[in-house]
Amino acid sequence: MKRIAIIGAGISGLFVANLFQKNKNYQISIYEKKDSIDLNKGYGIQLSSNCIKLLNKLSFNTLDKDEVFNPTVINFFQTNKEIKICDLDITKFNDEDCKYSSLKRSTLSKFLVEKLDSHVIKFNHEITEINNTDHKISLNFKQGDVVNCDYLIIADGVFSKCKSLLSSNTIKPKFNNSIAIRGLIDSEHLPKAKRDNVSISMGSNFHYVVYPVDNKGQKTNFIGILKEKLTQDQLSNYKFFDQGSYLNSIKEKLKNKISINILENLQDLKIFPVFVSEEFYKSEKNIFCLGDAFFAYPPSFAQGASQSIESAFELYKDIIDEKNNFYNNRIIKSKRVNLRSKLNQFAFHISNPLLVYIRNFVLKILVKNKKFLDSYLGKVYKN
Ligand SMILES: Cc1cc2nc3c(=O)[nH]c(=O)nc-3n(C[C@H](O)[C@H](O)[C@H](O)COP(=O)(O)OP(=O)(O)OC[C@H]3O[C@@H](n4cnc5c(N)ncnc54)[C@H](O)[C@@H]3O)c2cc1C
Repeated sequence: MKRIAIIGAGISGLFVANLFQKNKNYQISIYEKKDSIDLNKGYGIQLSSNCIKLLNKLSFNTLDKDEVFNPTVINFFQTNKEIKICDLDITKFNDEDCKYSSLKRSTLSKFLVEKLDSHVIKFNHEITEINNTDHKISLNFKQGDVVNCDYLIIADGVFSKCKSLLSSNTIKPKFNNSIAIRGLIDSEHLPKAKRDNVSISMGSNFHYVVYPVDNKGQKTNFIGILKEKLTQDQLSNYKFFDQGSYLNSIKEKLKNKISINILENLQDLKIFPVFVSEEFYKSEKNIFCLGDAFFAYPPSFAQGASQSIESAFELYKDIIDEKNNFYNNRIIKSKRVNLRSKLNQFAFHISNPLLVYIRNFVLKILVKNKKFLDSYLGKVYKN
């Protein structure tokens, strides 16, 4: 029996652990630095059909129907005028049992955690050292434990400590010159046209997305991405983003970008800087990176979690079939997703009025163009 150590109990770590748990040839443990997984937060996540198809391998389709919302279109608005530009039918990429979904992030985590045997996740385990000799890996944790394993799966997020240890600190994520503003809003405070689907509102150096987080129709997730210059000192001081004065200054900036009714009714607001990956890190033969630790995309295509799940499935197949080809396919797909995420962010944030006019005109055509959609979205949503 092969021993697999997974570092990080985020979406990618939890999903890959679930896949290996079903296979009796492997013994898995997840090492998580925190003391628990927060299963209470109401923030949302969008998952596209490529990811739902894989989650269904763990019977995601049996989850309580009230917990998962299935949007049918993505609406595009212009933020300053609240004018609807056009909409995109996303049901084209759905199958009967496998539909574009939005839900609470905690619903997904809870689903993945509850399927694991209780001893699999070892909390309070922060990795400090990795030694890999003769294909035997030895891991040291801050709390003093030493663990030996045959495979190491690195799933410790965008600031991956494991990647820093293995690359001697040479690979670091880059600040994306933007901050994310995340919150919840009761749907009654949104215009009717923004309540029942995914709505993207585009503005100058800013866009925000709202979507329901369940099927009960009350709570809606709000996520805004604002272009922002930050100093190195601000970026290295995480408390800076929790300060009320910073939050108020951002709210002030948003006053001419979001309707006041939405801005004043946002709840549980949290601001954080967005970091993205610049390069791919190919680790040694029996060590693999997954999810954001492998590559973190700009959040404008809502693909991070979906790609985490997709890459976890590819890695699982690669290891059990002894193919040793994981990175080749993954890099091709990641480049595709990264390019689209960057393009989206560019298009969503255009400021120049003439360019805005052209963007809106082109968008109206593209959302109805089957050939374009099959290529731009189909190549990502259909795996
Ligand atoms: C603003 C924003 C909005 C987004 N919206 C969407 C969306 O709608 N849809 C979508 O698909 N994706 C979205 N994403 C992306 C998505 O959230 C991430 O890609 C995904 O959560 C990555 O999961 P992960 O498991 O790789 O990493 P994480 O979720 O970051 O998990 C890493 C885990 O590792 C643990 N850890 C860290 N360091 C150590 C250590 N040294 N030792 C042990 N454990 C450690 C952490 O505590 C954590 O539990 C969004 C991202 C952002 C920034």
